[in-house]
Amino acid sequence: MDGDVLKRYENVVVKWVCLSALVLVFPFTLNNFWHQRWMIACSSLAVVICLLWNCIRLKREQKPHLEFLFPAIGVFLVLCFQEQGVIGAFWSYPAISLFYFILPHDRARWVNLALLITIVPSAFHVLPVPIASRVTASLIGISVTSGIFVFLIETQARELRKMAVIDPLTQVYNRLQMDLVLGQARARALRHQTPSTLLALDIDHFKSVNDEFGHDVGDRVLCQVAAVLKSRTRETDIIFRTGGEEFLVVLDGADLVKGAKIAEELRALIAGARLLKKRPVTVSVGVSQWRESDEVREWLKRADQRLYRAKVGGRNKVVWEDLPDFQAGPSSPKIRMESR
Ligand code: GH3
Ligand code: MG
Ligand code: MG
Repeated sequence: MDGDVLKRYENVVVKWVCLSALVLVFPFTLNNFWHQRWMIACSSLAVVICLLWNCIRLKREQKPHLEFLFPAIGVFLVLCFQEQGVIGAFWSYPAISLFYFILPHDRARWVNLALLITIVPSAFHVLPVPIASRVTASLIGISVTSGIFVFLIETQARELRKMAVIDPLTQVYNRLQMDLVLGQARARALRHQTPSTLLALDIDHFKSVNDEFGHDVGDRVLCQVAAVLKSRTRETDIIFRTGGEEFLVVLDGADLVKGAKIAEELRALIAGARLLKKRPVTVSVGVSQWRESDEVREWLKRADQRLYRAKVGGRNKVVWEDLPDFQAGPSSPKIRMESR
């Protein structure tokens, strides 16, 4: 699932890092123009323009374009070393850690390596060897520690994201990102004019499973039901555990007929799986296809209403929409017709 909440945070970080760098560099740019150091002034102006451009793009919630920043900063640093010597070297310290905060970790590593390869020869060219070697060692030190620090943060963020969106018991998605995913499925269906169908599943009389066999057995049944759902859906289908013993499956690209067939297959599989020795475990399913006028809430509501009708109609059933030539026949005895 992409386009998620974390991406927005990443862009906020990039925006503030670019803005801080802009505020820091800009006065020195003016100062360089004032003292007619034209080369450094122009190169730092190029850095300022790149930073400003990205700040504006991010403010407008557009994707940043950071590819010009590296050559601009590289040229600026080399000129600083060559024209200002040890004073110019100071700029390389914030620059070396900057990319870890604005680029994905793997790209930042390569950009930093390229930056070191660009500026270290300049350092040795213009500075005395004892200073150049110390500048090089401290730059490598900052680059490595920044890399480790950001790698740790990224790994933790990935783990936290997983913990936030994955149900620890059944390993399917919890409902945190459900609205976002359904909104994306709706937008895809609208844009490409392709169907998209929801299955709302609820385990029948699950309370009595807990009461009769205990909570641990109930938990095992929940995992087994989720495993059946995973085994019979495609990679692109997304499964949520929306509540205690309730699941939602988003079948991207499936119309109502296909959705109803898959729902029936899942219902039959679960009923026949003998998840408990002493009694069958069954599910009721409500199926709804996205309609062009539907908001996400209406689409969900229709699936829930059909699920409710499946329960009222005796459970262990699939209820879906009206389609004249998909009648409940002997091969699908539990599919019930519902009019729109
Ligand atoms: P219906 O056929 O009408 O759906 O009846 P039901 O008993 O399945 O529905 P009800 O809403 O009355 O009970 C749901 C039960 O699910 C109650 C609760 O004990 C159980 N439950 C909810 N979350 C969990 C869980 O994480 N683990 C286990 N073992 N049980 C859970
Ligand atoms: Mg329920
Ligand atoms: Mg139930």
